[in-house]
Amino acid sequence: MNDCIFCKIVSGKIKTEIVYSDDRVVAFEDSNPQAPVHTLIIPKKHVPTMNDLEETDGDLLGHLMLIGKQIAKEKKIEDKGYRLVLNTNREAGQSVFHIHLHLLGGRPMGWPPG
Ligand code: AMP
Repeated sequence: MNDCIFCKIVSGKIKTEIVYSDDRVVAFEDSNPQAPVHTLIIPKKHVPTMNDLEETDGDLLGHLMLIGKQIAKEKKIEDKGYRLVLNTNREAGQSVFHIHLHLLGGRPMGWPPG
């Protein structure tokens, strides 16, 4: 998608701090971190929301989660705790319409989320 900010990160048109990349996903630091660790893991293909995923995307979704787990380990928050969050549509707080998994950690977190 031409006007998608995360597609521009995937293509390299927007430079950012990439922490992981492979043939299917890219991970980079959130520009407005909400916790000491706040990394976004996104698919390289443009998928606007969780609602647009299909049965055949199960492996991709699982891969996003596993990369989140891997980065949590690299950032040494795996034992203390972390959250993997995927906001869907406005009421849940989605502001960028290219799905992204938030990896949040490095501080205690409340529940339920706001
Ligand atoms: P959400 O509100 O769930 O859609 O999350 C979007 C996230 O993308 C927010 O946490 C933003 O801070 C983050 N964000 C937006 N633009 C950029 C960017 N260019 N580089 C890194 N993070 C970004």
